[in-house]
Amino acid sequence: MKISGYEKEQNNNITLKLDYNDLDKFDKVYISKVFTDTYIPEDILTLSNIEYGGTGFFYDKAPPLPDYIEHHMPDYHLYDEWIQDKINHGCNRKEFKEYLDYSIGFLTRGCFRKCGFCVNKKYDHVFLNSPLEEFYDPTKKKICLLDDNFFGFKDWKEHLNKLQATGKPFKFKQGMDERILNEEKCKMLFSSKYDGDFTFAFDNIKDADVIKGKLQLIRKHTDVIPKFYVLCGFDRKDKYDDMFWVQDIIDTFERIKILSEYKSLPYIMRFNRYEDSPYKGMYITLARWCNQPSIFKKKSFREYCEMNQEYTQTKNGLCSSMRYLTDFENRYPDIADKYFDLKFSDY
Ligand code: SF4
Repeated sequence: MKISGYEKEQNNNITLKLDYNDLDKFDKVYISKVFTDTYIPEDILTLSNIEYGGTGFFYDKAPPLPDYIEHHMPDYHLYDEWIQDKINHGCNRKEFKEYLDYSIGFLTRGCFRKCGFCVNKKYDHVFLNSPLEEFYDPTKKKICLLDDNFFGFKDWKEHLNKLQATGKPFKFKQGMDERILNEEKCKMLFSSKYDGDFTFAFDNIKDADVIKGKLQLIRKHTDVIPKFYVLCGFDRKDKYDDMFWVQDIIDTFERIKILSEYKSLPYIMRFNRYEDSPYKGMYITLARWCNQPSIFKKKSFREYCEMNQEYTQTKNGLCSSMRYLTDFENRYPDIADKYFDLKFSDY
């Protein structure tokens, strides 16, 4: 969107390309890629009019955009025709709300934590990337921030004040770092006009004590139900054996339990190596249970699987969720006994 904003300012005609056909008809083609496993035909990248970038191509070594583009106002109309076409074909407008209703940008970039599973390793601190004026469009109803770790920025207060001064609801899309909250941050954050759920992360069971302490702090400032990303399937020691996977399932249940105790919701994020696990089905079922808050709030893991069994027309057999639950319970009855019947609504 910033590239498009810049090129339009140079009086160039812009087309949003949705395929790889006829690329030679353009003076210049920009391709960006976020995820490493997105397929792009390789011969395209050697064409002389192509420029490409993003973490999908370069992971943590992606070169930055030139300053005159990075700090340009995004073109908030780049996707207009594409969105209209989707809506005309029956898609719900809500699916495109971030394109339509939000000013979008990075106030800060960078993070100091260097988590093993995160692409964000290029910098070792949080720094100012774009002051709000660079991407704020007053005609938009809301503000969406893509910052990696906003509260790790030394001048967070000044920029939170600026956000509040717009009077518009805002949200940090990527989840916030709960471990660095303090009284002042909580007071300002929870009295803000916030858009949607307050979302944090609880990625490592080793952080349990600090997460619990901060949850107590949060409770002094708000009654809202915060959401926490719960990463699973990632091995910090690079060792994958049966005990690793069992321990990872235990750690995931334990984090779900702690969050429930503090009236917070887990959102399961599966690191893609979970697919190699003998308990792959457990990961899938855990995610389906937790990531539907209306179900998670009312049903234990066992009740969720039983509900699936009821709805499934499997004759003389178990539905997939019940099969995963039963297999795991037969192997590890103590773990099942400890976690399978816990229910958010009981806390
Ligand atoms: S705290 Fe978040 S942004 Fe920072 S390295 Fe960890 S996962 Fe990445």
